[in-house]
Amino acid sequence: MKNLKELFEHQLKDLYSAESQLVEALPKMVKNASDPKLKKAFEDHLKETKEQKKRLEDICDELNIKPSGEKCKAMEGLIKEAEGFIEEAEDEDVMDAGLIAEAQRVEHYEISGYGTAVRFAKELGHKKIAEKLQKTLDEEYDADNKLDKLAENRLNEEAIS
Ligand code: FE
Ligand code: FE
Ligand code: FE
Ligand code: ZN
Repeated sequence: MKNLKELFEHQLKDLYSAESQLVEALPKMVKNASDPKLKKAFEDHLKETKEQKKRLEDICDELNIKPSGEKCKAMEGLIKEAEGFIEEAEDEDVMDAGLIAEAQRVEHYEISGYGTAVRFAKELGHKKIAEKLQKTLDEEYDADNKLDKLAENRLNEEAIS
């Protein structure tokens, strides 16, 4: 990588790999969640994630590069941790609490990735592409906030019972 343009392209491919892996992994989160609201949150974000993946394909198209060719090892690791946790959880409430924790790690990773990508796009003068990446960044923030609320509700319910 010898310039910001190549670094930007590398980051886009990394994000594309991350989203692709999540499209495969999120159904497992949906399946294992027991709180209907949490299940719904994962289902909704799976739909969004598929659109985010498509959005990156469109961006790479505009830049005349292929979105594939990189493997996001960080996302691979985060997903492995989540799968390991699912194997170990023996109680519904523990499962839901842990799924939220694992999912928020993922969202925070995406937030930092897209935050950087938006900045690079702006620096390189790709205004339209920066807007598209910002849209995904906003969705990742929303997903994280939704998980924050679900985690708080869990705490409140436990305090009441
Ligand atoms: Fe995403
Ligand atoms: Fe990565
Ligand atoms: Fe996400
Ligand atoms: Zn957060």
